[in-house]
Amino acid sequence: MRERFDVAILGAGASGLFAARWLEGLSVCLIDSNLEAGKKLRVSGGGRCNFTNEYVGTEHFVGEERFIQEALDRFGPKELLAWLESEGLSYVKVKNHQYFCAKNSQELLAILLRSLQKQSFKKGERIQGITKLPENRFKIMLSKGSIEATLVLVATGGMSYPLLGASGIGYEIAQALGHEVNPLKPALVGLTLQSSESWMKELSGISLPATLKVENHTLQGDMLFAHRGISGPLILDASLFWKKGSIEISFLSDPLRYLKGSKGFISSSLPLPKRFTKALLDALGIMDGPFDSLQSPLQTTLLNALMAYTFAPAGNFGYSKAEVTLGGVSLGEIDPKTMESRLCSGVFWAGEVLDVTGRLGGYNLQWAFSSAYVAAQGIIQKLSSSSSKGIPHG
Ligand SMILES: Cc1cc2nc3c(=O)[nH]c(=O)nc-3n(C[C@H](O)[C@H](O)[C@H](O)COP(=O)(O)OP(=O)(O)OC[C@H]3O[C@@H](n4cnc5c(N)ncnc54)[C@H](O)[C@@H]3O)c2cc1C
Repeated sequence: MRERFDVAILGAGASGLFAARWLEGLSVCLIDSNLEAGKKLRVSGGGRCNFTNEYVGTEHFVGEERFIQEALDRFGPKELLAWLESEGLSYVKVKNHQYFCAKNSQELLAILLRSLQKQSFKKGERIQGITKLPENRFKIMLSKGSIEATLVLVATGGMSYPLLGASGIGYEIAQALGHEVNPLKPALVGLTLQSSESWMKELSGISLPATLKVENHTLQGDMLFAHRGISGPLILDASLFWKKGSIEISFLSDPLRYLKGSKGFISSSLPLPKRFTKALLDALGIMDGPFDSLQSPLQTTLLNALMAYTFAPAGNFGYSKAEVTLGGVSLGEIDPKTMESRLCSGVFWAGEVLDVTGRLGGYNLQWAFSSAYVAAQGIIQKLSSSSSKGIPHG
């Protein structure tokens, strides 16, 4: 006989595991293609998991503001911190108001895994699709058989890091149910360079603070030169907003104050890594030497490059290196109060599979938890209203 559950949670990542914690007492089956649950969570935040931020608002996300606000109002960072404290997590707040596990992400994962002691976990099972059965149930097709459930929570995440189990199954399920899936793109990812910027590739390993303008956003942070292109927190954030055109990087806001009247060489006068300044001068065709000895047009070229270096990146490092996926299941057909599909009653959504993407700083995990909480409450409400109407479940 086929196994039957109240709820099938598709994906045992951050949002699936978190929802499971709020569904204790129901018969729940989590399914994941990985042999261990929460694989991405374990490596997140460099292994220490930046699970939220002191300040979380809709301005930290790309996505529909009212939808995001609704979930944050129900379960925001304060509620998350209070719950994690009650579960015994020790955490620290570091720069940029980011909260990390005190020791490592395993501490948070262990809390999320507690519900697996009572709930079923089908590990190493690839989800292939779902179909609605006539008797108000769903059949979930797996690589090794199938299960049935009264309700389904799709928490399959995005396309980023296929090595950690990512797949496009959530989007396929959405489209099969008639949902729109907004265009997908790797985000929070390094950017590759055109040949005109190949001088930057020589600087692999150098990191420096900068200000960056992309589309209508001005961002600040550290950028890192890598052998494939440019990366670091500033560039990862910029990748969320970059479409195809130029970006502008300011390495110094007022370089003249270090250069004018200085008898030293330019590379020694500027408060920038010497290797960087020398490579920039080379790329501009300017000889290193005292700034005042340069001809005026070259002075202008150098100052412009330092204050507003403008270029178009070639592309990005791709899903294998992207922390998240921009785009996803359109929010228009999902009820923000319950996360239930408006097109297919009984199917709920949470996490990165939805068209909500956070900036760097703990916002994506906060979204996974906020949306999972709302979905779990929606599921409880749905099951209790159907049992009060005498509809059997499980
Ligand atoms: C390297 C890295 C570091 C990160 N660090 C941070 C951080 O510090 N802070 C932060 O806020 N965010 C961070 N993120 C982003 C964050 O981890 C994700 O946004 C978050 O995990 C999304 O949660 P989710 O539950 O929606 O998806 P996931 O956590 O990706 O879970 C989805 C699950 O579904 C499973 N799955 C997918 N397809 C199938 C299928 N066909 N069959 C069966 N199972 C399937 C996957 O194996 C996976 O376990 C990081 C991401 C990466 C890649």
